[in-house]
Amino acid sequence: MGAKLNGHHSGNSGQIQIINEEKNFTPHLSAQIERWGLRDAGFSYNVVAVFGSQSTGKSTLLNRLFGTTFDVMDETKRQQTTKGIWMCRGMDMSVMVMDVEGTDGRERGEDQDFERKSALFSLASSEVLIINLWEHQVGLYQGANMGLLKTVFEVNLGLFGKKAQEGPQSRTLLLFVIRDHIGVTPLANLQATLTADLTRIWDSLTKPSGLAQAQLSDYFDLSFTALPHKILEAQRFENEVARLRERFVNKTLQDYLFKDVYHKRIPADGVAVYMENIWQQVQNNKDLDLPTQQELLAQFRCDEIASAALNEFNTQAKSQKRPIEAGKVVQGLGEMMKQWRDEALARYDRDASRYHNGVYTRKRLDLLATITSTLSPLFFGQLKNLHKSCLATFKASLQSSLSPGGKDNDFANAIGRAKRECEENFLAVAQEACVDEKEWTWEEELLLLREEMGAVAEVFRKDETKKVVNLVERSFKQQLSEPVELQLNKGSRDMWDNLLGTFKRLLDNAESLYLAKTKTFNCTDEENSGSLSAIRRRAWQALRSKIDEQTTDAVMLSKLRVHFEERFRYDEQGIPRVWKPDDDIDGAYKQAKEQTLALIPLYAKIAPHDPAFEYTLPPSPPSSPPEEEIDFQSSLTIFSETKCLDLSNRFRRDADAYYVEAKRSTVSSIAQ
Ligand code: GDP
Ligand code: MG
Repeated sequence: MGAKLNGHHSGNSGQIQIINEEKNFTPHLSAQIERWGLRDAGFSYNVVAVFGSQSTGKSTLLNRLFGTTFDVMDETKRQQTTKGIWMCRGMDMSVMVMDVEGTDGRERGEDQDFERKSALFSLASSEVLIINLWEHQVGLYQGANMGLLKTVFEVNLGLFGKKAQEGPQSRTLLLFVIRDHIGVTPLANLQATLTADLTRIWDSLTKPSGLAQAQLSDYFDLSFTALPHKILEAQRFENEVARLRERFVNKTLQDYLFKDVYHKRIPADGVAVYMENIWQQVQNNKDLDLPTQQELLAQFRCDEIASAALNEFNTQAKSQKRPIEAGKVVQGLGEMMKQWRDEALARYDRDASRYHNGVYTRKRLDLLATITSTLSPLFFGQLKNLHKSCLATFKASLQSSLSPGGKDNDFANAIGRAKRECEENFLAVAQEACVDEKEWTWEEELLLLREEMGAVAEVFRKDETKKVVNLVERSFKQQLSEPVELQLNKGSRDMWDNLLGTFKRLLDNAESLYLAKTKTFNCTDEENSGSLSAIRRRAWQALRSKIDEQTTDAVMLSKLRVHFEERFRYDEQGIPRVWKPDDDIDGAYKQAKEQTLALIPLYAKIAPHDPAFEYTLPPSPPSSPPEEEIDFQSSLTIFSETKCLDLSNRFRRDADAYYVEAKRSTVSSIAQ
């Protein structure tokens, strides 16, 4: 006898009492099955149980057949073995062997409660039920064995009655082993007697409604074998036992006993839970509905298997949580997620697919949903990070290709290229990461990215446009400088005509230059008219300030002086005059002075001689910044009237000086 474990005897040899005298189920079966190495056997294992009166050599038989180590009654002490159900693993066989002790309550004068419960329990889990009896018990219809069989048939109807037509899982083999067969009565006769008895018992049963026609053969296959006396014919006994053992071992035998059709289809890793549930139902005298039990088992086990499958998955998924949260774009995230998911599903499928299909499928969907929802923050985080990095790359790429010496000076090309590269990159990474095309999409993020790229491009475009306007302005100023100086030096009557003519031509060029440079910018009309207006205004200001520069008091006085000198001190041929006493110095002086003074009003206002050359600055569009506003009309005036007067007076003093000098020169020549 082994040590006591929570009231359950468990031998060192691997014998475990799964149900004890108090009719409690052991909490250790699951661990024991694992120790036996049967946990991962799937359906590749068998269950056999033995029934029969006390001390009919049941345990002896099992130990011989399966190499088990059940306790055998000690001959010398005639001590009873402990009541309950014991289990051993068959030696070198994937068989769970159940030794049911104490089914003969009738004989012991006890109630038949345990007999009934253990019959239910055994039929719900075993493929083969060995009915062990002495030869002399055969034909004793009133005997204890027959009472037991009646119980077995009754509970079987309750269990499998409704399922008779469905065949698998509801058939059980009853193997009658007749012990101490003397040989006087041949086995065939014993078999006939037993079969007749069984049929009689079957017929006498009160069957549930709807099952009145049910036959014994609808539920059971019967097999009969006889063994010689163990002590009197020891060798023959051993030989026959060995032959019977072969029938449990050798699948190729015609009369192989563990036929697939008897298998109760409980995956090995669920056997412990299943048996415990069955016993609980039986123990509480609840109706034992096997389909429901199998479904409950499936729910329980599929949940367990799913959560085991999730454990490793969660660790894997967690590894990328931090990098994603830190804003990283994780390379090959999709490949990783796919692998974690597929591995988790494979782990689940491997064990759970053996269970009730509906439950397995339903729980698989749950598992997949859990996996997807665990992965989904990674996916959407990755998208968000990708979006950010793509936008940053887009900006940087625009900056570098638009910078002097960059790849692309053409704005449209630069934008186009940067956009294309950005989207390609986004798509590649997003598609790679999108391992659930049903639940996840990246389209929205792409739309957002496009929008933001558009906004960035807009800023760049406005910037570039400004640069063009400045460039146009610079080139305009350069071209304007010389003609203005030239015309203002001449002081001819058509000075303004020429100047405005040049101004208009250069402005036209500037406008064309602007339009050419911004052709691919896709500027709005409003933007273009704003830019053009700015160019016109700045051009005008440039003209105006160039004029101012050329008409400061000092410059102006010098111009007037030069003009006056040319007329007063040089003759028509440009030869310096040497005044003689007869010369009309006064006349010449007056005329040169008048002519020079007449220049002042010419310079005072930008006014072409020919109205065709008149220029008017068009009004600026409403969108223009107010600081660019110019009071065009007053900008036409170069000198105010006061200024004109002041210049005239100052010039007169200069002219007077020349006059005096001329006069003096004649005096001195006379004096010589
Ligand atoms: P159980 O109570 O049915 O499990 O019976 P046991 O296996 O413990 O055996 C009860 C007694 O019967 C033991 O003393 C065995 O030695 C003896 N025994 C076992 N097999 C046979 C048999 O085939 N014939 C006879 N006559 N005795 C046997
Ligand atoms: Mg025994």
